[in-house]
Formats: sequence, C-alpha cells, structure tokens
Amino acid sequence: MSDTLPADDSSTWSDGRRSAMKFTPYWLDTAPKGPDRSGTEIGGRVGVAIVGAGLTGLSAALHLARKGADVHVFERETVGWGASGRNGGMATTGMAIGFRDAIDRYGVDAAKAYYLAYIEALDTVEKLVADEGIDCHFARSGKLVLAAKPAHLDGLRKTQAALADHLGRETHLVPKSELGAEIGSGSYHGGLIDPRCGGLHVGKFVKGLAEAAARAGATIHEKAPVEQVKRLGGTKHELVTPRGTVQADQVLVATSGYTGRPFRWLQVRIAPVGSFIIVTEPLGEEVCDRLLPNRRMASTTKNLLHYFRITPDHRLLFGGRARFAMSSPQSDEKSGQILRKAMTDAFPQLAHARIDYCWGGLVDMSMDRMVHAGRQDGLYYSAGYSGHGVQMATHMGKQMAEYLDGRPEANPWRDLAFTRIPGHFGPPWFLPFAGAYYKFRDLIG
Ligand SMILES: Cc1cc2nc3c(=O)[nH]c(=O)nc-3n(C[C@H](O)[C@H](O)[C@H](O)COP(=O)(O)OP(=O)(O)OC[C@H]3O[C@@H](n4cnc5c(N)ncnc54)[C@H](O)[C@@H]3O)c2cc1C
Repeated sequence: MSDTLPADDSSTWSDGRRSAMKFTPYWLDTAPKGPDRSGTEIGGRVGVAIVGAGLTGLSAALHLARKGADVHVFERETVGWGASGRNGGMATTGMAIGFRDAIDRYGVDAAKAYYLAYIEALDTVEKLVADEGIDCHFARSGKLVLAAKPAHLDGLRKTQAALADHLGRETHLVPKSELGAEIGSGSYHGGLIDPRCGGLHVGKFVKGLAEAAARAGATIHEKAPVEQVKRLGGTKHELVTPRGTVQADQVLVATSGYTGRPFRWLQVRIAPVGSFIIVTEPLGEEVCDRLLPNRRMASTTKNLLHYFRITPDHRLLFGGRARFAMSSPQSDEKSGQILRKAMTDAFPQLAHARIDYCWGGLVDMSMDRMVHAGRQDGLYYSAGYSGHGVQMATHMGKQMAEYLDGRPEANPWRDLAFTRIPGHFGPPWFLPFAGAYYKFRDLIG
C-alpha cells in the first residue's frame, strides 16, 4: 500500500458532497446511546444538585452517590454534550501552563504539588475505568510533544531535566534524526515522550460514567437547564428549570466553558475559547502504523497548538484552536477547513483522505490557565481546566465529592486566587484579540 491514500471522489468541502461529513462529535456518534433521561421527574428537596453532566459533574455524582448522598444532576442538553464529549480524548499529565512555568510562578514545592495532582488524576481515570468496567479503550500509550521550531527542542530538553530533577519522572527526548520511529511527518524538530500518559474513547467514557453514577443511585436529568438560582441560606439553594423546581442542600456548578448567566460570578472568570477537531475516514491499521506507530497522544509546542491521535477504529483525529471563535456549525466548518490544511501540511500523505467528522467545543480558560475550585456565595464549583480536563475534570469530580462532604483540603487548587477576566461581562468579545496575540507570539517565538 502506498503512503498516500488514493484520491476519493467523495472527498469533503467545496464540492457539494459535504453531506457525507458529520458536524457531530465522533466520540458521541460512536458511543452507545444510553437511556433517554429527558422525562425524569423534577421537584421537591434534594441533597446535592449538580449542574452539568460532563466529566466533572458525573464523576462528582458517582463519588457522592457512593457515599450515600441523594444526588441529582441537571444537564441542559444530554450526557457529555459539552466539552466532555467533544475533546481529543487525551488523558495526559501536565498543567496547561507547563511545569517550568509553574515553577517560575509558584515555586518548586507548589509546582510539584500541582503536577502530582495531574499524575493522580490519570490514576483516578484508570481506576474508575477498571472499577466500573467502562469499556472505553483506555491505554497508556504515551504523550508525544513535538517541537514546532528547532529552538523549541531546547525547551523540551529543559522540561525533561526539570521533571527528572524535581519529580524523578522519566521522559524520553527524541532528536529530529530519530523522530521517524514516532511519527510519519517531516514537519517537526524532535519531541519529548511521557510514556505514562494515555488516551481513551471519551464518548464511551462519559456515557459509562453516567451509567456508573446512575447505578450508584444518582438521578440524571437531561434537557433540564438550570435557568435561575436563589440562595435560601448557607449552601441551600432553589434551582429553577423549565421541567420543575428543586431545593438543594448543596449545589455543585460543573458547567466549565458553558457557564452562563445564573452563575455570573463563575461566568466572568472563565473565557469560553473555541477548539475544533476533524476526524478522517477509517485509514486502516497499516496507514496508522506509519502516521503514529506507537499510538501516542501528540501535540505541538506552539501557543496555538495542534493535537492529534489515532482513534480506536484507525482514523486520524486532528484538532486545534483553528480560529478564535465560538463554536457554531458555520464556525466549525471554517475551522475544519483550516485544520484540514494544517493536517495535510503535517501529513501530505493524507491529501485525499476524506473527512468524516468536524466539530467544535468550548475550552474553559481561566485567566491564569489554572484549575479553580472552591465555594462562592454558598455554591461549590470546579472549572478552568484550560484544555486539560479529561483527567482533571474526572479527578476534580472525585475531590469535590470529598469537599462537599466536609473536606475542603481535598481540593488541590485551594490556594489559588481566582481572578475575574478584565472586561469579561458575558459574551467573550475579546477572543479575536487574544487569537491575534497568540498568533503573533507563535510567529516570533
Ligand atoms: C475541542 C476540545 C478538545 C479538548 N481536548 C482535550 C484533551 O484531549 N485532553 C484534555 O485533557 N482536555 C481536553 N479538552 C478539555 C476537556 O474536554 C474539558 O476540560 C472537560 O471536558 C470539562 O469537563 P466538565 O464536565 O467540567 O465540563 P463540560 O463537559 O463542558 O460540561 C458542562 C456541561 O454543563 C452543561 N450546562 C451548562 N450550563 C448549564 C445550566 N445552566 N443548566 C444545566 N446544564 C448546564 C452543558 O450543557 C455541559 O454539558 C478539550 C476541550 C475541547 C472543547
């Protein structure tokens, strides 16, 4: 078989045959549907109300239900509809800001603690998958960070040294001359491998987590947007949805990049930044063996990075912050076109590969790109995963279950001040400016 896929008449975009391409996330399209939870009864008094049925909300629901709490999850759409069903399915270590930046900002001890929280988060995912028997292709196939410019390899070398010196963590630096064993692309200048990271089918994972939470006794309400919240005193609140009103003793807001008006304090601290993904047609195992032979979770060193991986059914998933725009079908399509070009720049052998899926989602960026969790005005929250939430949102669900049970020290991010994003009043008008800034930095960096 040649390295270049044969030209395919049904290839996508600009030829009127786009209908073959789906604008829904591949992960949700290829996961079991799960029961319809949009007709559940909503009313009365509940112990814990969780807003949002993503990884944070569902993991918290599962862990709280295991403790015997009366848990109800309210989801505006359906299970996993938010970022949790739209991401790259990469469960990797490392904060959004990187370990060396964390040392500069917070000092060695705090940076180590934050990094270790990510290592623990990966273990949480692995244990949940095993304990609950979630069939989601979880595998620690490793993370590969690719130097987008020659000078970036030096940065990766320094990161390797910092991880070894401060955490005893073993990673492997791959010079450009040996990169062929890791990736079928000539675009990069070396890489750094962390072999303990992993990937999963995140649609199957989030659906499996919902099933596990329901088995443990939690009730999940779909098509149940929380439209109003009224504080009744302490941590007690009244939550109004179009399907009914409940009084809850405790409320966990797990809405991440989709946080809206009812939770204004949180909304103005999170910038919902669009990230976009395309997925090719099935390429076959042989082609994938040439693209990413070791099935690493790959990403590049740019500020506006690309990330890519092979799916369990041998497609290439390729994502990035193609444009600084909100997700919508039109926006997703434009972003998909930009991503396709980036994908074929990196992998010219895919010039004729059909694109089967294209979608976008909102990454919940905090001002400092760190996770923030705690309690404000009697409401508990955890958000700000800044593109690194597959493992951390799942982990924070578990930790917030402890927090709500009276152990605030379970929150690894408790010492971080959570600042408002200047000028953020609701709609994120500032995103194109932020995009221009990061593009410029990539150009000069
Ligand atoms: C395109 C993309 C790629 C990504 N890739 C990766 C990756 O490879 N690895 C990684 O670690 N992280 C990645 N992330 C980040 C990761 O997906 C998120 O950090 C994580 O899923 C957040 O989970 P969550 O449960 O907190 O929020 P979400 O999954 O976003 O869930 C929030 C839910 O709240 C609901 N909601 C909002 N308001 C209300 C309301 N008022 N009432 C009821 N429900 C409401 C929404 O409908 C939504 O379903 C990516 C994100 C995106 C968008």
